[in-house]
Amino acid sequence: MPAYTPPLRDMQFVMHEVLKVTDEYKAMPRHAEVDVDTINAILEEGGKFAAEVTFPLNITGDEEGCTLDKATHEVRTPKGFKEAYAKYIEGGWPALSCDPEYGGQGLPIVVNQAFYEMLNSANQAWTMYPGLSHGAYEAIHAHGTDEQKKVYLPKLVSGEWTGTMCLTEPHCGTDLGLLRTKAEPQPDGTYRITGNKIFISAGEHDFVPNIVHLVLARLPDAPKGSKGISLFIVPKFHVKADGSLGERNGIYCGGLEHKMGIHGNATAQLVLEGAVGTLVGEPNKGLQAMFVMMNAARIGVGMQSLGLTEVAFQNALAYAKDRIQMRSLSGTKAKDKPADPIIVHPDVRKMLLTAKAYAEGGRALTMFCSLLIDRELHHPDAKVRKDAAELVALLTPIVKAFITDNGHIATNACMQVFGGHGFIKEWGMEQFVRDNRINMIYEGTNTVQSLDLLGRKVLGNQGATLKKFGKLVAQLVEEEGVNEKMAEFINPIALLGDQMTKFTTEIGFKGFQNPDEVGAAAVDYLRVAGHLVFGYFWARMAQVALREIAAGNTDPFYKAKLQTARFYFAKLFPETATLMRTARAGAKVLLDTDEALA
Ligand SMILES: Cc1cc2nc3c(=O)[nH]c(=O)nc-3n(C[C@H](O)[C@H](O)[C@H](O)COP(=O)(O)OP(=O)(O)OC[C@H]3O[C@@H](n4cnc5c(N)ncnc54)[C@H](O)[C@@H]3O)c2cc1C
Repeated sequence: MPAYTPPLRDMQFVMHEVLKVTDEYKAMPRHAEVDVDTINAILEEGGKFAAEVTFPLNITGDEEGCTLDKATHEVRTPKGFKEAYAKYIEGGWPALSCDPEYGGQGLPIVVNQAFYEMLNSANQAWTMYPGLSHGAYEAIHAHGTDEQKKVYLPKLVSGEWTGTMCLTEPHCGTDLGLLRTKAEPQPDGTYRITGNKIFISAGEHDFVPNIVHLVLARLPDAPKGSKGISLFIVPKFHVKADGSLGERNGIYCGGLEHKMGIHGNATAQLVLEGAVGTLVGEPNKGLQAMFVMMNAARIGVGMQSLGLTEVAFQNALAYAKDRIQMRSLSGTKAKDKPADPIIVHPDVRKMLLTAKAYAEGGRALTMFCSLLIDRELHHPDAKVRKDAAELVALLTPIVKAFITDNGHIATNACMQVFGGHGFIKEWGMEQFVRDNRINMIYEGTNTVQSLDLLGRKVLGNQGATLKKFGKLVAQLVEEEGVNEKMAEFINPIALLGDQMTKFTTEIGFKGFQNPDEVGAAAVDYLRVAGHLVFGYFWARMAQVALREIAAGNTDPFYKAKLQTARFYFAKLFPETATLMRTARAGAKVLLDTDEALA
């Protein structure tokens, strides 16, 4: 059976020693009173909830899965899931970072995201139910009418109702412009919505009495393509004027998908038969409104893989210290045992350190991103808010794709540490690999993320936002450029920063002549950008560790941090050279190959 210990020390390191979040919060009236002790106490409680309430349901939820009663269209979630959700509500957890105007606690996004990392380590399938609700809350909060906010937000904030996002249809996933679900305006200002949605996470379940579906559909006179899509709230049960539940609405679950992982989460086919909905935002501007939810969900998906990377690492590490096989190449280490623990073997250490470096790098990046969102929402200075929003937009595809790809590498490496015991179910490692796999696919595949990064967010504004991130790197280089002890961390990012400028211009130029060049380079490009960002955070973490050690701090945490930083720069970061080379190999070798694919 796997185990999980919330990584509170590392979270505190990133928040309080690297990012110094509470110093920043002093400038934000909403969070000015939030102090280190409050954050730590919440995370300690949150960690207990994850480790004690939802983690024990991870394997059982995977084995049991969800079941649909075809007669009633109701879905039963695995044993214990519903009760865990009741405890989640009882603890006030859904309200953590929500707006006090609607019953929220108004705490920073950083705190909520750190809590979500732990929930995802404990049980990704369960966490998706409240995770999607939070996304629905954000979309309605940003684009809903006053009436919609009044009816739906308090219930989503308290967790009494949950939310979904309904985009995908059988013939359209990536290309939402192909969407067919129809919305007919009614004389009373509502809409009757008809169509079929598939793959809807948490689309039906037994946690709560009502589900708030956010549905994309087309108005009768809508322009073709993605410019003719509108967003609607379609509740499972109608809501009466006094807030109580009315009749069942015409949206129901027609089937559940049988899938590779996240079995405890109900992935529903939803049938809409004249379901009554209300418009969110402006007609035909539904995609923009839904982007609030999609962007939150993209960062959320990165958090899912971060959580799985962490829990897989913890278990592989414990196993590698315990399992004995063969002797160390450099001579016996455990003389009292018939063989050495496998942690002595260089390649086992490489697999473990890969997972550790990706978990800790991912934690720094996602917390930084969350801090940027706090700035974007609550900083009094408009320029600071704008800069933060631009950086979040740049980093979102990196969080989504780089962290989930790393999660794939890391969970597989951790499974490998177990040898054959990783492949069988008993140790829980194969579930981490299976559960992580969807993170590379949904919320826009990682290829789509790379096109968003390179096409829209870098080339789309001539690299202006990338330069903003480049400035952060340049500042660190300037600060530490003469510090010999930092050279091993600073030199690689300074070099890559320069190379990225040339690399980006080169792809931009080739793409101008042939847009397929952008498509051919994008996935490699995102991974290079991911390493630039991770490299920056690893250098900052090494900087703090070096300072502490120089000041005489003997906490082994700092030595470990420094060693992991060294590993990251020596063994993982250098893949950027290969990636730039493969990106430069261009589109011709892909597109001239009809015969090869015949
Ligand atoms: C378990 C699960 C849960 C999900 N949850 C939800 C949910 O809650 N709500 C929801 O609306 N959807 C959900 N989805 C749907 C998910 O977001 C889509 O599956 C995903 O966006 C990809 O769409 P698709 O499956 O139709 O693949 P396609 O769009 O058909 O793509 C197939 C392949 O083509 C590639 N491709 C497509 N276009 C391009 C391009 N322009 N350039 C390069 N490559 C391209 C893709 O990257 C992919 O590799 C879920 C899916 C699953 C499996």
